[in-house]
Amino acid sequence: MLFTNETYLQESIEAFYATPSGGPYTLSLGNTAVYLPLANITTSYKDIASSVRQQAASGEAASYLPAGASRSVVNGYLAQLKVLAAALENPTYPIFEAPFQGPPGVGFLLKPLSRGSVLLDPEDHDAEPVITYGTFENPLDMDIVASFVPLMRSVYSTPTMRAMGVVETAPGPEVQDDEQIREWVRDATVASFQHPCCTAAMMPREMGGVVGNDLKVFGVKGLRVADASMMSLLPGTHTSATCYAIGEKAADIIIQAWS
Ligand SMILES: Cc1cc2nc3c(=O)[nH]c(=O)nc-3n(C[C@H](O)[C@H](O)[C@H](O)COP(=O)(O)OP(=O)(O)OC[C@H]3O[C@@H](n4cnc5c(N)ncnc54)[C@H](O)[C@@H]3O)c2cc1C
Repeated sequence: MLFTNETYLQESIEAFYATPSGGPYTLSLGNTAVYLPLANITTSYKDIASSVRQQAASGEAASYLPAGASRSVVNGYLAQLKVLAAALENPTYPIFEAPFQGPPGVGFLLKPLSRGSVLLDPEDHDAEPVITYGTFENPLDMDIVASFVPLMRSVYSTPTMRAMGVVETAPGPEVQDDEQIREWVRDATVASFQHPCCTAAMMPREMGGVVGNDLKVFGVKGLRVADASMMSLLPGTHTSATCYAIGEKAADIIIQAWS
Protein backbone atom coordinates (compact mmCIF):
# COMPACT_ATOMS: atom_id res chain seq x y z
CA MET A 1 0.00 0.00 0.00
CA LEU A 2 2.97 2.32 0.57
CA PHE A 3 3.71 1.98 -3.15
CA THR A 4 0.15 2.14 -4.41
CA ASN A 5 -1.87 4.37 -2.05
CA GLU A 6 -0.66 7.99 -1.91
CA THR A 7 -2.92 8.86 1.05
CA TYR A 8 -1.66 5.93 3.10
CA LEU A 9 1.92 6.83 2.17
CA GLN A 10 1.51 10.45 3.37
CA GLU A 11 -0.18 9.32 6.60
CA SER A 12 2.64 6.85 7.18
CA ILE A 13 5.30 9.54 6.70
CA GLU A 14 3.49 11.87 9.12
CA ALA A 15 3.21 9.06 11.67
CA PHE A 16 6.93 8.35 11.33
CA TYR A 17 7.89 11.97 12.04
CA ALA A 18 5.37 12.32 14.89
CA THR A 19 6.48 12.11 18.56
CA PRO A 20 6.30 9.33 19.56
CA SER A 21 6.97 7.86 16.14
CA GLY A 22 4.53 5.24 14.81
CA GLY A 23 3.16 3.55 11.72
CA PRO A 24 4.61 1.12 9.18
CA TYR A 25 7.94 2.96 8.77
CA THR A 26 8.83 2.14 12.39
CA LEU A 27 8.54 -1.60 11.77
CA SER A 28 11.69 -3.61 11.59
CA LEU A 29 11.37 -5.65 8.43
CA GLY A 30 12.41 -9.19 7.58
CA ASN A 31 15.95 -10.43 7.76
CA THR A 32 15.43 -13.64 5.80
CA ALA A 33 15.53 -13.99 2.06
CA VAL A 34 16.02 -16.52 -0.68
CA TYR A 35 18.36 -15.88 -3.59
CA LEU A 36 16.94 -17.54 -6.66
CA PRO A 37 18.44 -18.66 -9.95
CA LEU A 38 16.23 -17.88 -12.97
CA ALA A 39 15.69 -21.64 -13.39
CA ASN A 40 13.72 -21.59 -10.12
CA ILE A 41 11.51 -18.75 -11.32
CA THR A 42 10.57 -19.67 -14.86
CA THR A 43 10.81 -22.72 -17.11
CA SER A 44 11.71 -20.28 -19.92
CA TYR A 45 15.09 -19.51 -18.36
CA LYS A 46 17.09 -21.01 -21.22
CA ASP A 47 15.01 -19.12 -23.80
CA ILE A 48 15.64 -15.87 -21.93
CA ALA A 49 19.38 -16.56 -21.83
CA SER A 50 19.42 -17.30 -25.55
CA SER A 51 17.43 -14.11 -26.25
CA VAL A 52 20.17 -12.19 -24.42
CA ARG A 53 22.79 -13.78 -26.68
CA GLN A 54 20.66 -13.09 -29.75
CA GLN A 55 20.28 -9.42 -28.75
CA ALA A 56 24.06 -9.18 -28.45
CA ALA A 57 24.80 -11.00 -31.72
CA SER A 58 22.26 -9.06 -33.80
CA GLY A 59 23.27 -5.65 -32.46
CA GLU A 60 19.76 -5.11 -31.06
CA ALA A 61 21.21 -4.82 -27.56
CA ALA A 62 22.95 -1.53 -28.33
CA SER A 63 19.58 0.10 -29.01
CA TYR A 64 18.69 -0.34 -25.31
CA LEU A 65 21.64 1.74 -24.12
CA PRO A 66 21.20 5.43 -23.32
CA ALA A 67 21.27 7.57 -26.47
CA GLY A 68 24.77 8.61 -27.48
CA ALA A 69 26.54 5.66 -25.83
CA SER A 70 30.05 5.47 -27.30
CA ARG A 71 31.43 2.46 -29.18
CA SER A 72 33.49 1.52 -26.12
CA VAL A 73 30.40 1.53 -23.88
CA VAL A 74 28.56 -0.64 -26.43
CA ASN A 75 31.50 -3.08 -26.48
CA GLY A 76 31.49 -3.29 -22.67
CA TYR A 77 27.75 -3.85 -22.59
CA LEU A 78 28.01 -6.69 -25.12
CA ALA A 79 30.75 -8.29 -23.01
CA GLN A 80 28.57 -7.96 -19.91
CA LEU A 81 25.59 -9.53 -21.68
CA LYS A 82 27.73 -12.57 -22.43
CA VAL A 83 28.47 -12.97 -18.71
CA LEU A 84 24.85 -12.30 -17.77
CA ALA A 85 23.47 -14.83 -20.30
CA ALA A 86 25.64 -17.50 -18.69
CA ALA A 87 24.38 -16.42 -15.25
CA LEU A 88 20.72 -16.54 -16.32
CA GLU A 89 20.93 -20.10 -17.59
CA ASN A 90 23.02 -21.37 -14.68
CA PRO A 91 20.63 -23.20 -12.31
CA THR A 92 22.85 -22.49 -9.30
CA TYR A 93 23.50 -18.76 -9.94
CA PRO A 94 21.14 -16.45 -8.04
CA ILE A 95 19.81 -13.55 -10.09
CA PHE A 96 16.80 -12.63 -7.97
CA GLU A 97 16.29 -11.93 -4.29
CA ALA A 98 13.00 -12.59 -2.51
CA PRO A 99 12.92 -11.41 1.12
CA PHE A 100 10.32 -12.71 3.54
CA GLN A 101 9.00 -9.79 5.53
CA GLY A 102 5.26 -10.28 5.47
CA PRO A 103 3.19 -8.61 2.79
CA PRO A 104 3.65 -7.49 0.17
CA GLY A 105 5.81 -10.18 -1.43
CA VAL A 106 8.63 -8.32 -3.13
CA GLY A 107 11.57 -9.28 -5.28
CA PHE A 108 14.79 -7.62 -6.33
CA LEU A 109 16.37 -8.15 -9.72
CA LEU A 110 20.07 -8.62 -8.93
CA LYS A 111 21.34 -8.94 -12.48
CA PRO A 112 19.51 -6.33 -14.53
CA LEU A 113 20.17 -6.21 -18.27
CA SER A 114 19.11 -2.56 -18.57
CA ARG A 115 21.60 0.26 -18.19
CA GLY A 116 21.20 3.87 -17.10
CA SER A 117 23.54 6.81 -17.25
CA VAL A 118 25.06 9.55 -15.10
CA LEU A 119 26.11 12.60 -17.09
CA LEU A 120 27.32 16.11 -16.36
CA ASP A 121 24.63 18.73 -16.77
CA PRO A 122 25.61 20.32 -20.10
CA GLU A 123 24.26 23.70 -18.90
CA ASP A 124 26.28 23.71 -15.67
CA HIS A 125 29.00 21.19 -14.94
CA ASP A 126 28.91 22.07 -11.23
CA ALA A 127 25.17 21.31 -10.94
CA GLU A 128 23.75 17.96 -9.83
CA PRO A 129 24.51 15.29 -12.43
CA VAL A 130 21.77 14.16 -14.80
CA ILE A 131 20.82 10.64 -13.70
CA THR A 132 18.74 8.32 -15.87
CA TYR A 133 17.97 4.88 -14.46
CA GLY A 134 16.96 3.21 -17.71
CA THR A 135 14.77 0.78 -15.77
CA PHE A 136 13.29 -1.91 -18.06
CA GLU A 137 14.93 -0.36 -21.14
CA ASN A 138 15.97 -3.87 -22.05
CA PRO A 139 12.58 -5.64 -22.39
CA LEU A 140 14.01 -8.96 -21.16
CA ASP A 141 14.23 -7.44 -17.66
CA MET A 142 10.45 -7.17 -17.70
CA ASP A 143 10.14 -10.80 -18.84
CA ILE A 144 12.21 -11.84 -15.84
CA VAL A 145 10.52 -9.67 -13.21
CA ALA A 146 7.00 -10.41 -14.48
CA SER A 147 7.68 -14.14 -14.19
CA PHE A 148 8.24 -13.66 -10.47
CA VAL A 149 4.55 -12.85 -9.85
CA PRO A 150 3.18 -16.34 -10.75
CA LEU A 151 5.98 -17.87 -8.66
CA MET A 152 5.00 -15.80 -5.61
CA ARG A 153 1.38 -16.75 -6.16
CA SER A 154 2.25 -20.43 -6.22
CA VAL A 155 4.27 -20.08 -2.98
CA TYR A 156 1.42 -18.26 -1.26
CA SER A 157 -1.07 -20.87 -2.51
CA THR A 158 0.68 -23.74 -0.74
CA PRO A 159 -1.32 -25.41 2.04
CA THR A 160 1.16 -24.04 4.62
CA MET A 161 0.55 -20.46 3.57
CA ARG A 162 -3.17 -21.00 3.09
CA ALA A 163 -3.39 -22.31 6.65
CA MET A 164 -2.08 -18.93 7.82
CA GLY A 165 -4.92 -17.17 6.04
CA VAL A 166 -2.80 -15.43 3.44
CA VAL A 167 -4.77 -12.96 1.31
CA GLU A 168 -3.32 -11.47 -1.85
CA THR A 169 -3.23 -7.69 -1.64
CA ALA A 170 -0.67 -7.00 -4.37
CA PRO A 171 -0.87 -7.26 -7.34
CA GLY A 172 -4.42 -8.29 -6.31
CA PRO A 173 -6.72 -10.93 -7.74
CA GLU A 174 -7.92 -8.61 -10.54
CA VAL A 175 -4.42 -8.62 -12.03
CA GLN A 176 -4.34 -11.84 -14.01
CA ASP A 177 -3.20 -11.78 -17.61
CA ASP A 178 0.37 -11.19 -18.68
CA GLU A 179 -0.22 -7.60 -19.83
CA GLN A 180 -1.88 -6.68 -16.51
CA ILE A 181 0.99 -8.23 -14.57
CA ARG A 182 3.54 -6.28 -16.61
CA GLU A 183 1.66 -3.04 -16.08
CA TRP A 184 1.56 -3.68 -12.32
CA VAL A 185 5.28 -4.50 -12.25
CA ARG A 186 6.06 -1.28 -14.14
CA ASP A 187 4.05 0.78 -11.63
CA ALA A 188 5.32 -0.97 -8.50
CA THR A 189 9.02 -1.09 -9.36
CA VAL A 190 11.49 1.06 -7.42
CA ALA A 191 14.45 1.96 -9.65
CA SER A 192 17.81 0.86 -8.18
CA PHE A 193 16.29 -0.12 -4.81
CA GLN A 194 18.90 2.25 -3.31
CA HIS A 195 21.71 0.10 -4.70
CA PRO A 196 23.00 2.23 -7.56
CA CYS A 197 26.43 1.20 -8.79
CA CYS A 198 28.71 0.58 -11.72
CA THR A 199 28.86 4.10 -13.22
CA ALA A 200 32.69 4.21 -13.10
CA ALA A 201 33.27 0.53 -13.81
CA MET A 202 36.58 -1.29 -13.44
CA MET A 203 36.83 -2.52 -17.01
CA PRO A 204 39.20 -1.93 -19.93
CA ARG A 205 38.92 1.59 -21.31
CA GLU A 206 38.03 0.25 -24.77
CA MET A 207 35.05 -1.43 -23.10
CA GLY A 208 33.73 1.72 -21.50
CA GLY A 209 35.63 1.20 -18.25
CA VAL A 210 36.53 4.21 -16.10
CA VAL A 211 39.13 2.77 -13.68
CA GLY A 212 41.84 0.14 -14.02
CA ASN A 213 42.58 -2.56 -11.47
CA ASP A 214 44.62 0.00 -9.47
CA LEU A 215 41.34 1.98 -9.09
CA LYS A 216 42.95 4.90 -10.97
CA VAL A 217 40.72 6.82 -13.36
CA PHE A 218 41.94 6.39 -16.95
CA GLY A 219 43.43 9.57 -18.34
CA VAL A 220 43.38 11.49 -15.03
CA LYS A 221 46.32 11.94 -12.66
CA GLY A 222 45.97 11.46 -8.91
CA LEU A 223 42.36 10.23 -8.86
CA ARG A 224 41.11 6.87 -7.66
CA VAL A 225 37.55 5.68 -7.23
CA ALA A 226 36.72 3.56 -4.17
CA ASP A 227 32.98 3.18 -3.96
CA ALA A 228 30.03 1.30 -5.44
CA SER A 229 30.52 3.01 -8.78
CA MET A 230 33.66 0.98 -9.62
CA MET A 231 31.83 -2.36 -9.62
CA SER A 232 31.36 -3.57 -13.17
CA LEU A 233 28.20 -5.57 -12.38
CA LEU A 234 25.84 -5.44 -9.44
CA PRO A 235 26.87 -8.22 -7.03
CA GLY A 236 24.32 -10.94 -6.26
CA THR A 237 23.63 -9.36 -2.88
CA HIS A 238 23.08 -5.99 -1.22
CA THR A 239 25.95 -3.63 -1.83
CA SER A 240 27.35 -2.32 1.45
CA ALA A 241 29.61 -5.28 2.38
CA THR A 242 31.16 -5.14 -1.09
CA CYS A 243 31.73 -1.38 -0.61
CA TYR A 244 33.63 -2.10 2.63
CA ALA A 245 35.77 -4.60 0.71
CA ILE A 246 36.44 -2.00 -2.00
CA GLY A 247 37.50 0.51 0.68
CA GLU A 248 39.84 -2.00 2.33
CA LYS A 249 41.34 -2.97 -1.01
CA ALA A 250 41.78 0.69 -1.99
CA ALA A 251 43.63 1.34 1.29
CA ASP A 252 45.98 -1.59 0.56
CA ILE A 253 46.63 -0.41 -2.99
CA ILE A 254 47.41 3.14 -1.84
CA ILE A 255 49.67 2.00 1.03
CA GLN A 256 51.59 -0.25 -1.36
CA ALA A 257 51.90 2.51 -3.96
CA TRP A 258 53.25 4.95 -1.33
CA SER A 259 55.75 2.55 0.18
C1 LIG B 1 17.95 3.63 2.36
C2 LIG B 1 19.06 2.69 1.99
C3 LIG B 1 19.08 1.41 2.55
C4 LIG B 1 20.10 0.52 2.24
N1 LIG B 1 20.11 -0.70 2.83
C5 LIG B 1 21.14 -1.54 2.60
C6 LIG B 1 21.21 -2.78 3.27
O1 LIG B 1 20.35 -3.14 4.09
N2 LIG B 1 22.25 -3.60 3.00
C7 LIG B 1 23.22 -3.27 2.11
O2 LIG B 1 24.16 -4.05 1.91
N3 LIG B 1 23.17 -2.09 1.44
C8 LIG B 1 22.17 -1.21 1.67
N4 LIG B 1 22.11 -0.03 1.00
C9 LIG B 1 23.13 0.27 -0.02
C10 LIG B 1 24.45 0.74 0.56
O3 LIG B 1 24.22 1.60 1.65
C11 LIG B 1 25.25 1.49 -0.53
O4 LIG B 1 25.43 0.65 -1.67
C12 LIG B 1 26.62 1.89 -0.03
O5 LIG B 1 26.54 2.68 1.13
C13 LIG B 1 27.33 2.68 -1.11
O6 LIG B 1 28.62 3.03 -0.62
P1 LIG B 1 29.46 4.10 -1.34
O7 LIG B 1 30.75 4.19 -0.60
O8 LIG B 1 29.52 3.81 -2.80
O9 LIG B 1 28.65 5.47 -1.23
P2 LIG B 1 28.06 6.20 0.06
O10 LIG B 1 27.87 5.26 1.20
O11 LIG B 1 26.90 6.99 -0.45
O12 LIG B 1 29.24 7.18 0.46
C14 LIG B 1 29.48 8.37 -0.23
C15 LIG B 1 30.06 9.34 0.78
O13 LIG B 1 30.59 10.48 0.11
C16 LIG B 1 30.24 11.64 0.82
N5 LIG B 1 30.28 12.75 -0.10
C17 LIG B 1 29.43 13.03 -1.11
N6 LIG B 1 29.83 14.13 -1.76
C18 LIG B 1 30.96 14.55 -1.17
C19 LIG B 1 31.84 15.64 -1.40
N7 LIG B 1 31.65 16.51 -2.40
N8 LIG B 1 32.91 15.75 -0.59
C20 LIG B 1 33.14 14.86 0.41
N9 LIG B 1 32.34 13.81 0.66
C21 LIG B 1 31.25 13.66 -0.12
C22 LIG B 1 28.86 11.32 1.36
O14 LIG B 1 28.54 12.13 2.46
C23 LIG B 1 29.01 9.85 1.77
O15 LIG B 1 29.50 9.69 3.06
C24 LIG B 1 21.11 0.91 1.31
C25 LIG B 1 21.09 2.19 0.77
C26 LIG B 1 20.08 3.08 1.11
C27 LIG B 1 20.12 4.47 0.52
